[in-house]
Amino acid sequence: MNAKQYDIVVVGAGVVGCAIAFELSRFNLRVALLDSRSDVGSVTSKANSAILHTGFDATSDTIESALVRKGYQRFHHWSSILGLPIEKVGGLLIAWDEEQLVSLPGIVEKAKKNGVTDLTVESPESVYALEPQLSPGALGGIRIPGESITCTFTAPLAFATTAVRNGVEWLKGTHVHRVHKMDTRHQLQTSRGIVDCRILINAAGLFSDEIDRMLGFDRFTVSPRKGEFVVFDKRARSLLSHIILPVPTKKTKGVLIAPTVYGNVLLGPTADNIQDKSDSSTTVEGLSNLMSKGTRLMPALLKMPITTTYAGLRAATENSDYQLFFEPQASYICVGGVRSTGMSSSLGIAEAVRERLPDFGITLEPKPGWIAHRMSNIAESFERPSQSSERIGLHPEYGRIVCHCEQVSLREIKQACSGPLPATNLDGIRRRTRAMLGRCQGFYCMANIVDICSNNLEMSAESLLGMADPKEKA
Ligand SMILES: Cc1cc2nc3c(=O)[nH]c(=O)nc-3n(C[C@H](O)[C@H](O)[C@H](O)COP(=O)(O)OP(=O)(O)OC[C@H]3O[C@@H](n4cnc5c(N)ncnc54)[C@H](O)[C@@H]3O)c2cc1C
Repeated sequence: MNAKQYDIVVVGAGVVGCAIAFELSRFNLRVALLDSRSDVGSVTSKANSAILHTGFDATSDTIESALVRKGYQRFHHWSSILGLPIEKVGGLLIAWDEEQLVSLPGIVEKAKKNGVTDLTVESPESVYALEPQLSPGALGGIRIPGESITCTFTAPLAFATTAVRNGVEWLKGTHVHRVHKMDTRHQLQTSRGIVDCRILINAAGLFSDEIDRMLGFDRFTVSPRKGEFVVFDKRARSLLSHIILPVPTKKTKGVLIAPTVYGNVLLGPTADNIQDKSDSSTTVEGLSNLMSKGTRLMPALLKMPITTTYAGLRAATENSDYQLFFEPQASYICVGGVRSTGMSSSLGIAEAVRERLPDFGITLEPKPGWIAHRMSNIAESFERPSQSSERIGLHPEYGRIVCHCEQVSLREIKQACSGPLPATNLDGIRRRTRAMLGRCQGFYCMANIVDICSNNLEMSAESLLGMADPKEKA
């Protein structure tokens, strides 16, 4: 049997697995990043609130609070190198009743404990000066200047593309069914044959409990918690400057209104415990619940056109903290139950994993010639390739717009289907370019894009539309 052999295999190519692969790619190791899906970042990591959290409200002295803080700093550091768009718009947490008002000093104290020291308590007057469109009745608030918005699509793509360019093998469409321990190595029985490794890193998100059980542990169960969102048209963007936050509860950070780096406005998420780990549908109840909460927070928002809706599933467990376990005896690291903050903490988690590898007998020798892959910008507040006369001068196809809502050029579509980590279907093209994610949701450009990809890039219409693999939705 010719099994592929690696020092380390990362199971799960969400933002967490991709960040770990990115970190490991900097060293002389034989690493594979493996996922059931044909693309990275295509499950929970593509469907969140896209907020880069400071960690001000995390439960202090938890793994999560430490790693969100570390991840936030590292994300900022790498953003300029990898081209991760960030807007430090700040958060404004609002107290709507007396009980919430009296809790504000405690939130500021908690933030200080978490190392976030720049919060300011705001009077009702200053709350309305900062956000004039808020409903009447706010009793006060807290400003959190560091809360930022970013692109949830670009982060896993940037991490994974850099990893692949530096030698990490991307094993797409590879589902892990079973894990056998053979002497000192793991043999992963997958949908594409046996994969052999010395150390297994479980970053399988909603299925991290199942992988943990395959390794002989039984310590947590993932119960999906659905979060639904409404995306408002870009006309709504001028209504707010900050991320408008409620006072968080133990269960959830609550429903927020946030600008996006693409120039839209998000309302959400809900928090509903469900059974089915694959059910990321939106519901009438969820959306109407959001609309009535949104009306109470900012009535003018509800007069704005809606572009789309979506839902993501948090990998909640019976424990509120991350399920991070280092098992040198079992040559196994579990990074499960990364519930509501995983994009912010991803690079913090990756660093924590790298720091513990010597305990697993791994020698970390830096890889000579390592290069960071800089992503093409898809955020509205920074220059898009189709707006750059210099780029159009070099490559005229940057000037040929294919998606008019999001100003995506022919060259960007072609690039999305090529390179070290090409899109495999329309969803992948959306996440790499923003094409088909604007006002018309692809009504005017989708047929043209399918044509471009199938004619120029030899991708079949079936694979583009996700029909080759029923798990992949176009
Ligand atoms: C509604 C909502 C709002 C959120 N808002 C924010 C926010 O604003 N900021 C923030 O930082 N975080 C936010 N989060 C949290 C963040 O999105 C998650 O913590 C993060 O995406 C988790 O990433 P992951 O890599 O652990 O999991 P995933 O993205 O789910 O990746 C896991 C991968 O493992 C693969 N996999 C599973 N089982 C197997 C198997 N047997 N074989 C092979 N592959 C397998 C899956 O296919 C998947 O690709 C939010 C989450 C939700 C749901």
